[in-house]
Amino acid sequence: MNNRTFGVNPYDMSIITITSCPICGCNDLKKAFNAVDHFATGEVFPVCRCSRCGFHLTNDFPSEDIIGQYYDSPDYISHSDSKKGLIHRLYHFFRKRMLRKKISLVASQATGNPIRLLEIGCGTGHFLEAAKKEGWLVSGIEKDEKARKSAINRTGLQVKKEDEFWLLENNSFNVVTLWHVLEHLEKLNETIHKIGEITTPDGIVVIALPNCHSYDAGFYKELWAAYDIPRHLWHFTPATVEELLSKHGLTIIKKISMPLDAFYISLLSEKYRGSNLFIRYGRAFGVGTIGFLRSLSNPAQASSLIYIAKKSEETNRKE
Ligand SMILES: [Zn+2]
Repeated sequence: MNNRTFGVNPYDMSIITITSCPICGCNDLKKAFNAVDHFATGEVFPVCRCSRCGFHLTNDFPSEDIIGQYYDSPDYISHSDSKKGLIHRLYHFFRKRMLRKKISLVASQATGNPIRLLEIGCGTGHFLEAAKKEGWLVSGIEKDEKARKSAINRTGLQVKKEDEFWLLENNSFNVVTLWHVLEHLEKLNETIHKIGEITTPDGIVVIALPNCHSYDAGFYKELWAAYDIPRHLWHFTPATVEELLSKHGLTIIKKISMPLDAFYISLLSEKYRGSNLFIRYGRAFGVGTIGFLRSLSNPAQASSLIYIAKKSEETNRKE
């Protein structure tokens, strides 16, 4: 893809500037707002909006060579098993619940037997471990070395580095999962294209993403914790996910809302807002509840969504 240049300064290879929308190719990207990296550095990053398709993206953002420093905190929740503090405890409580939900979701949607599953961005390997216990043939990709080692220890599986993803053979997996991972990946189109290749004709692709058109995103605006810049490069809505996937021959067959995320994200957003403890929990509960109730009737307002996609019949005919 030729839609990125390196930096305002051409010698600065550490900052990437996106010059055209990765979804629709439009060159008119305008700054929508500034967001602060509340989690790690306090640095400010602009979030731009494509004037044609409305896609939001962090722009400029740090390249893969230096992005590691923005995750470099014992607090980075999906890479850590720390149970300190209420937010961490809530995260681990939800993670346990979500693990069961994810397993039953994959079991109900997958068609192949045996299930051959690849998890892209497997973190410390909890989902892989649960999937392995189901008797599925599972493998994972994780670029963070510490998380990868922890996943290998936990599962006894060969968890691969990111560069090995590009070498995977076509039609290798009947389930490919990305649980809150795609928004972190610099090579957006290339990744979706490769996923299409390695998925079998009747396989499924499962992608969980925050939804920046959710009720809680609208409430917290630039303080919405799931913008999580600059770790999140891309900020999806159901419409932009559909457009991206269809470009690569994938059709969404099911969308499932993850309404409980609204409580967790609202709590983090209140923390970023600097609210005192009483207001923090009270308002986060209020916003989470409204978001949860609204998402029951309209999943497009859910804080996060799980998209299940298949290769379109046209794509399968061409292969
Ligand atoms: Zn666009």
